[in-house]
Order: sequence, then structure tokens, then C-alpha cells
Amino acid sequence: MSTDTDQQRTILVTSALPYANGSLHIGHMVEYIQTDIWVRFQRMQGHDCYYVCADDTHGTAIMLRAEAEGITPEQLIERIRGERLADFAGFNVEFDNYHSTHSDENRELATGMYLALKDAGKITTRTIEQFFDPEKGIFLADRFIKGECPKCHTKDQYGDACESCGTTYSPTELINPFSAISGATPVMKESEHYFFKLSECEDFLNQWMAGDLNQHGHESLPIESRNKLQEWFEAGLMDWDISRDAPYFGFEIPDAPGKYFYVWLDAPVGYMSSFKNLCDRTEGLNFDDFWAPDSKAELYHFIGKDILNFHALFWPATLHYAGYRTPDQICVHGFLTVNSEKMSKSRGTFITASSYLEHLNPEYLRYYFAAKLNDKIEDIDLNLEDYVARVNSNVVGKFVNIASRTAGFIAKRFDGKLAASMDDTGLALNNKIQAASDEIATLYNDRKFSEAVRAIMDLADEVNEYIAALEPWKMVKDEATLADAHLVCTSSLNAFRLLTVYLKPILPVMAEKIEGLFNIEPLQWSDSQILLTDQPMNKFKHLAQRIEMTQVDAMVDANKDSLVNKGETHSQVRHAEKQQHEHPAIAETISIDDFAKIDLRVAKIINAEHVEGADKLLQLTLDIGKEQRNVFAGIKSAYAPEDLIGKHTVMVANLAPRKMRFGVSEGMVLAAGPGGKDLFILEPHEGAKPGMKIK
Ligand SMILES: [Zn+2]
Repeated sequence: MSTDTDQQRTILVTSALPYANGSLHIGHMVEYIQTDIWVRFQRMQGHDCYYVCADDTHGTAIMLRAEAEGITPEQLIERIRGERLADFAGFNVEFDNYHSTHSDENRELATGMYLALKDAGKITTRTIEQFFDPEKGIFLADRFIKGECPKCHTKDQYGDACESCGTTYSPTELINPFSAISGATPVMKESEHYFFKLSECEDFLNQWMAGDLNQHGHESLPIESRNKLQEWFEAGLMDWDISRDAPYFGFEIPDAPGKYFYVWLDAPVGYMSSFKNLCDRTEGLNFDDFWAPDSKAELYHFIGKDILNFHALFWPATLHYAGYRTPDQICVHGFLTVNSEKMSKSRGTFITASSYLEHLNPEYLRYYFAAKLNDKIEDIDLNLEDYVARVNSNVVGKFVNIASRTAGFIAKRFDGKLAASMDDTGLALNNKIQAASDEIATLYNDRKFSEAVRAIMDLADEVNEYIAALEPWKMVKDEATLADAHLVCTSSLNAFRLLTVYLKPILPVMAEKIEGLFNIEPLQWSDSQILLTDQPMNKFKHLAQRIEMTQVDAMVDANKDSLVNKGETHSQVRHAEKQQHEHPAIAETISIDDFAKIDLRVAKIINAEHVEGADKLLQLTLDIGKEQRNVFAGIKSAYAPEDLIGKHTVMVANLAPRKMRFGVSEGMVLAAGPGGKDLFILEPHEGAKPGMKIK
């Protein structure tokens, strides 16, 4: 990356758009934290750096999920958006704009891009044959088809690859294929699809990859990714299918009724539309300055390695042929493992962002990720014991400790003011820390965060050694050394302030507290060249708490499969174990069709009586309009029969009759509560008549 740090830069940065069908987990947070640190660093350098993102909202998965929940896709994405914004704010990820791909700006830009590609002769149509679910009336993507593996004959495998033997295949090779949506046997059906002619883009992509189009003089991709692209070139680029048939949640293709843009066509356009939305409400910010082919602005996309093809093939090619500039660099990172293993729901290491926030300080995860991140596409590991040890030893034990050991004396012994000068050793140490500014800045700029953190912590070690050698806590006890103690504390706190400048992109909240302690304006990178003397300080307040392993254990427990996976919110999870009895976990999601199978009716209790020989049951006679039912209900512990007669309730009218010792029960009345006295039968609002269907 460019290191011309003296020049004012104009930069647009994006993180991948999270798909709006589930909660964010700490694996997602690697990217947002990485990007946010880089953006904060650039801003501290005084550059104009904009950071935008959006929800990725289209596609079959979101359509089906909304359907299963009985809500519209718009309602689903609105709810997810609320969760997202809370998670990002919690981790201090600060976007200039967080928009949605289901927006007017995105429709306009995606459509415009398609029409420009069509004008450029880069769009073609072709008839393809694809599996179709005749029951659901929907074409089936590979992952919505299941069947028996043609190789090892394991049942229930997805349409693209076998999870048991690892063979990849086309869904047409599956034995006894069925639709994962309806269970129906799929049929082959023809459909006309729209394609982007990627096969014609290899020369351009080679040029782009080499950085030839790049005004800012760096590689467009990390070396590992360039090698991957080379492999794809060698295999031969295929045209890219950019259309899907209705029903589909997305944007309809102009002049092609019933055809929609494939979600990956309009998802990266979301980077542009989020920025467009920001420009439209920001004075002086001009969309074309960033996206026109002659743009002088820098453009960086931070992504995970799994979506490289979309960002290194389709995205630059569609941008280029639609008449836009191309990205300067795709910054690719690896995945997160926890304790050296894939995140796992059963082990409780599939940790949601919101659950982390309930248990632990977000800045500690920012610090830990920064201490592990570099510019390579390596997976990074969150080892939970190492996380506790490293945060306690580095953030609390090394960094904050400098202030803990010296700041108190300023208020107590030196009238709340730093000395007018420093001791020689202390001054030399401060000068050394100041001199590291450029080196640390370059490491940040090059995304070598782990090396930056190491350099900063090495300096913190030196400051601690300095304090330990001089022991200011002893010096303040002796009038003869009291003045020297003031110098030592002043040197130490200056060093602390300089280290705060360097750590601020990672620990913005702690840095703000420290700015409060020193009574100073928000720190910029250039403040590393200033030393403070004669400066009044505020009283030292506690800055950081050590982490206890028990906090981590509690978080892991809260993320164990049995509770979280059933759709409970995390605040519920906390109390769930204790209150499992009163608040059993929410059951597995069912479709609206599943729900419709249950015939619920308003029933009038026309008679209720004790049952001879039964200690839990009452015998109810229910009027449901055209007929009467006999129902045995286990509610004797909570109700006297005479209290029920004449009341209305709700019954399951199509439950199979059940033969009991006392007779046949022809249905079930609905009641809530754990049991005993705490049972409450449902009662409809006044006006409901016997036999009315509940839906
Ligand atoms: Zn197999």
C-alpha cells in the first residue's frame, strides 16, 4: 500500500456486506474490526477516509426464511438490520453509512450497471436446464437439492458436494434427488438465463491484477490471491449467470419480466449505493469523485477469502465494462478458529457478537484480533486461555499499569499538574517512543497490525522497566526525592500518552478516557511528536479490568447449542438454565404451512366436572359451533369445574382422538404455565363465538 503519509489522501473503504439472514458472530467481527482499525488509523493521520457498508438482503435464502417465519422479506431484513446496528455499535465499528441493498439507490445503480454492460456487448442469454421444484414452483439452486451421494451412497447430501466423502458433483448426478424445500422430486426444466461474458475479460483482469490500472502504486491483490486467480485463468473463465427466475427476492431485470438479478450481481453494487446515499446527504461529497474512471480517490474492499471470486473476477470486470473505476486493492483475510478448531455450536465456540458483548469488553477482542492480524490470508485463532492471559498481561499489566503506578501521585502529591520538565532518562525514553511513530504508522498502513502491536508493547515494556528501576512510590515518601518523583511521573505519563496515540485505532474507547485524564483534545497521530509539561491533569480513574476465565466460561456456556440454536435471544439465554422450567427454549422454526395444519377453534365450555378416580383431570364438554366435543384436560390442580362453565377457550380441533382410561378425549384445550396451581387456560377476547377458526 501507499505510504506517502505526508500527502493528504482521499480514501473509500468497505467491509463485505453481511447477509441479512442471521446473527453476526465473532468470526464476522474479525473483518469489521480489522477494517475499523485501519480506517481509524487513516483518520488519525488526517486523511479523508470514508467507511461504508450495508446489509446484503436479496436471494432465495432470505425469501424462504421470511416465508418460514410468516413475515415479508422486508420485515425480516428490517429486524436483522436492528440487530446488526447494535452489534457494530457495541464493538465500536464506526461506519460513515450503513445502508441496504434493498434500496432505491441500489436498484438504480444495479440496473444502470446492467444496461451499460448490455450496451458494451457483455450480456448474452442462453437457455439452461435446471432442477425445478414442481410443488413449490421454484428453480432449485444446488444447495436446495438433496439426495444420495453417487460415489459413497451417503443419504441426504446437498446438490454440490458430499459431506461424507467430499466428492463434488452436479445435482443431476444425485441418486433419488429431492427438493430440500418441499421434499418433492425435482424435474428438469428449461429457462432462459442472462450471462455476463466473463470469458472475454481475462486480458482486462490480468491488467487489473497486475496493478497496471492502479494510480496508487500497489498490488491489487495479495500474492496468494493472485496465484488463485492465475489458477482460475488457467482453468478457463466461464460466463457468469446473473439472472434468477421468479419467485425471487431482488430486483427485476429491465425488459425481462419474471427474471431477477442474481443476488451477487447487486450485492457489491451495495458498496456504491451506500456511498451514494451518504453523498446525497453530505455537503461537498461527490459520488463521481470516487467512482468515475478518472477518480483520484483510493478504493479498498476488505473481504474474507471465501468471496474472492466475486471481488477479484466479477466485480472489477463488471465495474470496468460498465464505465466505472476499479478497486485499488482487495484486502483479503482468513477465517477465525476458536481454540484451534472450527467454531462449533455444540462446544459453545460459535459465539455471537451480542453474546460476546454481554460478557466481555469489546476492546479486548479488538486488541486480541489486532495482535493476531497481518496482511496475509492466514486463518487466525482465538485461543480463549491465551486471550485472557494476553489481555491481562498486555493491556492491563503493561499499558494501563504505567498510568496506574504514576497518575495517582500527580493528584495526591503534585497539585494535579505535570512537572515543567523531565528527567534525562525519562526524556530519552520518550524521544525513543516518538521516533517509532513512522515505523508503527507504516505497519498500520500495511495492515501488519500484529507487528504494530508488538512494537508498541516492546516500548511499553521499556517504560515499565524504567518505572520499576526508579520506584516513584518510594521516592514520594522522602522529601529529598519528592521533586525527582514528580519528574519520573511526568516522564512515565508522557510515555503513556504517546503509547495511547499508537493504540488508539485499536482501543478508541480507552483512548477517549485517557484523553479525559490528560484533559486534552482527541489525539491525532501527529500528537506523538508533542510532549506535555506543566499540564494540569484530571484525577486518575480506573481504566481497565482484568478478565477472569469464569467470564469466558459463562460466555461459552451461553453459546452452547441446546439453548442458543433454538432461536432464543441472548438475554434470555443468560437466565435460561435457571428458568428452563418456566421458559423452555423456543422450538425449531416451522413453516406457515406446518402451522396451518393445526386447526384451532374457539370453544365454549358448556360443562365441566371431576372425573371419578382421576387426580389431575377435569372432563370438559366443549361447544365448537356445529358439534360438541368431550375433552379430558389435566387442569384440576388449577381450576374448580364450576369456575369454567360458561367460559370460552381455545381447542385443537383436529388432534387425533385419544382413548383414555375414562373415555375418549376428542381434542385438547390450550393452557400455559409450568403446572400445579400455575396453569392458565387461554380465553379469547369478548365477542369470539364457538367454532371460529383461529389463524
Ligand atoms: Zn459421498
